[in-house]
Formats: sequence, C-alpha cells, structure tokens
Amino acid sequence: MTDNIKVKSDTTPVKIQPAKSSKDKARSGSNQIYVRAVQGIYQTVRRRMGFVFMGLFMLLPWLRYEGHQAILLDLAEQQFTIFSVTLWPQDLMLLAWLFIISAFALFFVTTFLGRVWCGYMCPQTVWTFIFIWFEEKIEGSRHQRMKLDQQPMSVTKFRKKFLKHFFWIAFSLHTSLTFIGYFTPIGDLYLDFFTFSAGFWVSFWVIFFTFCTYGNAGYMREIMCTHICPYARFQSAMFDKDTFTVSYDAARGEKRGPRSRKVDPKEKGLGDCIDCNLCVQVCPTGIDIRNGLQYECINCGACIDACNGVMDKMGYQPDLISYTTERKLEGGKTKLLRPKIIGYGIVLLVMLTLFANAMLHLQSFDVDIIRDRNQLFRENFDGRIENTFTLKLMNKSQHESTYLLTATELADEFEWVGPQQVKVKAGDVASVPISIRVAPEYLAEDINDFYFEVKFKQPGQKPETLYEESRFFNRF
Ligand code: SF4
Ligand code: SF4
Repeated sequence: MTDNIKVKSDTTPVKIQPAKSSKDKARSGSNQIYVRAVQGIYQTVRRRMGFVFMGLFMLLPWLRYEGHQAILLDLAEQQFTIFSVTLWPQDLMLLAWLFIISAFALFFVTTFLGRVWCGYMCPQTVWTFIFIWFEEKIEGSRHQRMKLDQQPMSVTKFRKKFLKHFFWIAFSLHTSLTFIGYFTPIGDLYLDFFTFSAGFWVSFWVIFFTFCTYGNAGYMREIMCTHICPYARFQSAMFDKDTFTVSYDAARGEKRGPRSRKVDPKEKGLGDCIDCNLCVQVCPTGIDIRNGLQYECINCGACIDACNGVMDKMGYQPDLISYTTERKLEGGKTKLLRPKIIGYGIVLLVMLTLFANAMLHLQSFDVDIIRDRNQLFRENFDGRIENTFTLKLMNKSQHESTYLLTATELADEFEWVGPQQVKVKAGDVASVPISIRVAPEYLAEDINDFYFEVKFKQPGQKPETLYEESRFFNRF
C-alpha cells in the first residue's frame, strides 16, 4: 500500500487501496458528488465540442443579415426569421418536421453509439461542465472542495463561496439573456435590461431562466439526468448488443485488488483493475461502471480517460474501460449494419430529403381568399350580380413587394372592382377588399369556378405567379 499513482490531469496522489463502497467515494455525506478533474482524449473532445456549441449559442443571436438580426424567433409577431427565410405560423409544419428529424437522428445515434448526445452535446452536460470548471478554479481540486465544505465558515471560505456563486450567477444571467435574445432583438435586450428599462415580462423571463440555469448546472446536475430527463428511461429500448457503450471489461479486470507496480498480477491471482476508484471519482453521475451498464451513465468517457491514465502508470494495456459493445465483450464481432440502424437511417434520410425539398420550395408570399360570409352574392341596383371577397396578401419575404391581382377563367364581361396593384411591406399582411360583378345574362351556371391570379416579383428574383381557386355564385 505504499505506491502512489498519479493521473495526468490531477496532481493529487492516489493511494492504491480497496474501495469500501463506490458511492462512498463519489459522494459526500450530504450526497453531493465531488467530481474529480481528469484529462484524456475523450475529455478533450468533450471540452472542444462544448466550446463549439457554447460559442455558436452565444454568437448566433448577434449575427446580422441584411440589416436585421439573422436569427430571430419573434413570438409576438409570429414570425421566425432565419437569415433570408421567414417562417410564419402556416409554416410551423416545418418546425414539427424538424423535431421529428431530430428525434430520428437521436434514435439513430443512440442505437449506434449509446448516449453520446448526453455526454457530449446535451446543454445540461455542457453547462454543468462549465460550472464545475468555475468551481475547480475557485475552490480547488475535488479533495480541496470536500475539505472546504467540511470546514466551519471563515473569511477564506466565505470569499471562495462568494466568488463561485458570483461567477455562476453572472454566467447564468449571460446564458439567460442570450437565450431570450433568440426571441427578442438582443442588442435592445441587453441595453434595456442593464438600464432597468426592460418590460415586466422580459425581466421576468430573464430572471426565471437565470434561476433555472443556476439551479440546474449548479445544484441539480446529475439529478436532472438520472431522475427528471425522460431520455435516460427509454434509451434502453434503442440499445442492442452492438451498441457502443462505456463498459468495463470484467473478464480482464477481475479479480480486482491493489498491488505494487512491480508485482505480476497473475501470480497473485489478480486481474488488471487495481481498485483505485478513480473511475468513480471522475464520474459526473457518481456511478461505478464496474457494476455494469446503468441508466445513470451518460457515456461521457471520463472513466475511460481516468482508467487509461492508471493503466499507463501501471504499464498495463489501455481500455480496461472503453467504448465497446456487449457482443464484443462476449468475444463476438460487433455488427455495424443491422436492421434497426438501417431502418432509422432510411427514415432519417427520407425525412431530411423531404424537409430540404420543402425548404427549397418555401414561398416568400401567401394569399388567403375570404368570401363575404353574410352574403354569397348580391344583386346591384343595376341588376348585376356581385360577389365580394377579401384577399389577405402575406409578404413573407424580407423586402417590400408589389403584387398584381386579377381573376382568370371568367368571361370578359366580368368586372373586377378594387385595386389590382398592391404594395405590401416586408413581413406584413395586407387586406384587400374586392368585388367581381357581371350582368346575369352572361351567367350560364349558378356556380362558376375561377382562379385569383397573383403575380409578384422579389428584387433580384424571377417573377412568380400564384393561383387560388374560388367560386362565383349566381342566385339559386
Ligand atoms: S477500473 Fe480502472 S480506474 Fe476504475 S478502479 Fe479499476 S483500475 Fe481504477
Ligand atoms: S460511468 Fe463513465 S461514461 Fe458513464 S457517466 Fe460515469 S464517467 Fe461518464
């Protein structure tokens, strides 16, 4: 019991001694998990991906496009602007498709690689990672944090706790403002909030999301993943024997036990696991992967990095814990292509193709024809039959446009009464009342089908024509 092992990332010496209980080691008496820092290939990937996603999240609402905020989901105006595309409530089907595509992408990736979404991309994990980073920079390593929490309040302890909560709250507030900046112009939001001139509801939501971020990433952490997030519960439905999950090679690791680096484990009847408990100490959900696959595991790979560090120090082969499949651990060969993967892949591909097609044919304009509901037709003082409509012209583009209106497939004797050229501002709806009238002797039928024709041209684009079917009613 005299040998010490150092893991690359952490300078705290680790005594090789049997673990009493995995949970004892991961949690304090208050059941709080003190996550130990670790470095390795998977943590580097996690950190870089976290930076990329965090950077995108923070920067995207600040991007400008043709003089306006490039991404603005304006709920009050019911318009979602994404660069040159504006989605209206009529286009919300596209958002529903997007959710379905995301769900199938998640099924596909989970069947193939387990819960990598949770470990590498989920905002809960990324934000928790950042909060732990603040904690470690201010309060020190896992061991120092545990010691600090056991100490009575002192000036040093107060200063460290105050600084930690200050940075947590500041980062939560920044997160909240950025998030709300996707729904309201972000420049004005920052200005209004910090000059106390923001409206009640805006201030309420900013404080609400600040509180949620602070609570989730500061305190809830793994509780969110293990008790609240529904994904953890239904993931097993997507797993099969060929899904890559973080697993401990029990055949190689057992019988576990401490030993000196110089001792041949075979002589002592031991496997490669030295029972140092590092894999438990670095686990953000506080589990012991040596107990087998557990629903709490978010596939983050921290235990792999920790164990590989130990294996390196001991001069053993790496990957006692690794991303592997149940079939491989049983001595078989992992099947990459299997019916479930192929099925999810095909559905995903079809959905993506349909979505791309719908996006490519997204109209920058829409028209609604509303007939006068009180009177299908009326007879004028001069005996002519008249039908009245309201044309709702929706300019879904980001430029002012002029629309030319007419009716087709009606005889020349039909008269259009109302404007035939209408200008509509970008993102605006114009209501155009019009009537069509004709002398009764030109009406061969009681119901005459015809089309409203709307021609329009966007700057720099080809002219387009839209037809909307309607009916002209005669007296019955
Ligand atoms: S699996 Fe690896 S990290 Fe975990 S206790 Fe065994 S040797 Fe240590
Ligand atoms: S068991 Fe390993 S992979 Fe799973 S959550 Fe814990 S550290 Fe991450």
